[in-house]
Amino acid sequence: MSKKYRMIHDENLCIGCQACSVACRSENHVPDNVFRLQVRVETKGTFPNLKMDFERHSCVMCDDAPCVKVCPTGASFQTDDGLVHIDSSLCVSCKYCVVACPYDARFVNPITKAVDKCTFCFDNRVSKGEKPACVTVCPTNALVFGDMNDSESEVYKKANENYLFFPKAHLGTHPKLAFVPNKKGVNYE
Ligand code: SF4
Ligand code: SF4
Repeated sequence: MSKKYRMIHDENLCIGCQACSVACRSENHVPDNVFRLQVRVETKGTFPNLKMDFERHSCVMCDDAPCVKVCPTGASFQTDDGLVHIDSSLCVSCKYCVVACPYDARFVNPITKAVDKCTFCFDNRVSKGEKPACVTVCPTNALVFGDMNDSESEVYKKANENYLFFPKAHLGTHPKLAFVPNKKGVNYE
């Protein structure tokens, strides 16, 4: 049976330490001034009723991926497991996919000149049975990753114990990256 991967970022547990983005940079040799993963600080509300959210920003691994649809060379492709990858040898850097991505998750790698993005560390880690680098270093277990077809997995249990928010769900892209929204403080939905 193919895997049904899911990553969950629990904003209640995230402390914004950036260990995940540093680990991503190191694991994937991400050049300066571009990123596959950032944790952004969002301040919500009005003074004095303010709260800060830490929000993961990366490829959300759409099930129905706009980037794949517009790629003219097949460089952007999807596996049977639904993960979206880039074959840099086929990328002509036309940037159609950069524009098509509603999550602003793609960039041109200044070293390879090909388009790049988060891969959930599939080639270097997940395909070998390991977790993505960001997940392994998170000190608060705010990031959980695994196979939703495995009812014993941590990610399955996390998904079933929490309300999950899927970014830009109205677009019908069906992201594999989901969030447990920050419930601390005032709720400014
Ligand atoms: Fe493609 Fe962007 Fe979706 Fe990632 S988030 S699969 S780059 S459209
Ligand atoms: Fe948040 Fe964990 Fe990343 Fe630190 S490592 S910023 S706690 S998700």
